Amino acid sequence: MAGEKTPVWLIDCDHTLYPREARLMEELDRRITRYICRELKMEWEEADRLRRDYYSRYGTTCFGLITHHGVDPAHYYREVSDLPLESFIRPDPRLAATLSALPGRRVIFSNAPRFYVDRMLGLLGVEGLFDEIATIEDFGYEGKPRLRPYRYITGRLGLDGGKGGGPVVLVDDSPLNLPPAKELGFLTVLVGEPPEGVGLDGDQPNLWVPRLAGAEGELLSLLG
Ligand SMILES: [Mg+2]
Repeated sequence: MAGEKTPVWLIDCDHTLYPREARLMEELDRRITRYICRELKMEWEEADRLRRDYYSRYGTTCFGLITHHGVDPAHYYREVSDLPLESFIRPDPRLAATLSALPGRRVIFSNAPRFYVDRMLGLLGVEGLFDEIATIEDFGYEGKPRLRPYRYITGRLGLDGGKGGGPVVLVDDSPLNLPPAKELGFLTVLVGEPPEGVGLDGDQPNLWVPRLAGAEGELLSLLG
């Protein structure tokens, strides 16, 4: 079948489509800590510690709150992810050009909730450029780098990690999110900060780019 060799691009949203915006992340962290304070009746410092602890253990703070405290994820995301994105995010025609240049299926693969991703894509001016959007709700609120999102996307898209099908490329700013993809036979692209410890283990990305916008030449070279 002609379509079998079609590449698939699994592209993260935050800090991958746009550069890390420190103030936006500080605001998100503040909102999460405030949410924990209120819902679990904790002092700020204890709540902040819990936020970091769950994030590192579960890929998202939310999954720790669901697992240990029965928090309602829809309520959580409604409260914490309703960020003032308009103040930080502008349309990016360069990004749109880069995405348009990628052949095959382009898929958003994000730990953020759907309403937030939709808003982000709209503000960046790239909302029409994806074939599929997979967000935290689809993964039962369990985030990358836990395995469930990878299993989910593999099933949904019918991916076989390049074994006879086309190449699958994960594009993400978090080094932690790359190894599970590599395990599945996907190619990996790290966006943003350069990878550390080059050559020390097999978990290095196939490609590193400082920014996604403008990187179509490097990305296309991955396809050989
Ligand atoms: Mg990210």
